Amino acid sequence: MNETIDSELFDDANRALHFPIRLEVARCISDLQNKELAEDSGVGPRAVSNWKRGVVPHGSSLRGLAGATGFPEHYFMKSTPPPTVDRLNYFVRTATPNYVRDRFTAYGSLVGEIVESVRDYLPELSPALMWSPTTRAADHVAIEMRLRLGLAEEQTIDSIVALLERSGVLVVNGPDERKQVDGYSAWISDRPVIVLNPHRGELLRSRKTIAHELGHLVMHDGVAGKTAKVVQQREKEADRFARSFLIPPAPAFRRRVQQAVRTYGWVALEGVQANTGISVTEILTYALHLGLEDMQFIEKRAIAWSADHSTSHRHGAGTGFVERPSALREAVNRAAEDRRSTPELLAREAGIPTKFMLRMIE
Ligand SMILES: [Zn+2]
Repeated sequence: MNETIDSELFDDANRALHFPIRLEVARCISDLQNKELAEDSGVGPRAVSNWKRGVVPHGSSLRGLAGATGFPEHYFMKSTPPPTVDRLNYFVRTATPNYVRDRFTAYGSLVGEIVESVRDYLPELSPALMWSPTTRAADHVAIEMRLRLGLAEEQTIDSIVALLERSGVLVVNGPDERKQVDGYSAWISDRPVIVLNPHRGELLRSRKTIAHELGHLVMHDGVAGKTAKVVQQREKEADRFARSFLIPPAPAFRRRVQQAVRTYGWVALEGVQANTGISVTEILTYALHLGLEDMQFIEKRAIAWSADHSTSHRHGAGTGFVERPSALREAVNRAAEDRRSTPELLAREAGIPTKFMLRMIE
């Protein structure tokens, strides 16, 4: 037996091993049940169960599968292991957890295919992101993380997307139809990735979401398989992290928050909001966490605030403007240029439907 045949056998074995995982990703992404997948692919129901066991399709079945899912044939023929999607963090109140988890994992896997294809062009991962805190006190972790990312004590964060992208975190747009979450996060192919819901595009909300997901990425090992109680605890921790991360820890700044809360002047509160990018309601909650005020006081203020400010009358600096991620887009563009290719071709080569990559980097 010569070496070529050896390596071909090896590729075949790997393909059979990895195919069922990629099949599941494609099925999830194209939102097909097994029966529909068989029908749309033009094969019998037994073919799909064979596929799931690692029987790799060829010829017309493969073309049918590609056509039904919208994935390039080449995607199913890859002999490399599928990207890893680890430590997935998401929070959904209503939907069936397993279904949601599978969808998020599948989309994460597509992000991973791109990450692996342009890895050399991505910003280096900062050691700050590889830090595993020994404490679960979210406020402390947030303040320490600010330091590790090189932020001064009194420094407000102009663009949280730019800050995190410089440190090697990837921020990408999520699939269109996920309306029930602001965002989610995972370690994808060993990269911290935050997936944002493009439909929830308000600056204050997305800043908060990004800081919240950063908290998960740093502190938590995901929510899959965790009890509802643990998930809720982690949600609280990520929220606390977000507030402490966005509000500079400098005593002078915190005194300003305190004063703004005490005097309850709208102008003062809005000034804090403009500086931190977190909403007035969040600032009030933060004051509660800092022990500046008690619950009753905060609740009264929060109710008065929302009564005074109808949703049609928006406040805060830049509300409505969403920070645009650029790290993955730039990596894709540079890789395409070097390879005398285009982002569209690069997506095909990575094996994913072009439209998904274009959405991720749009
Ligand atoms: Zn969360």
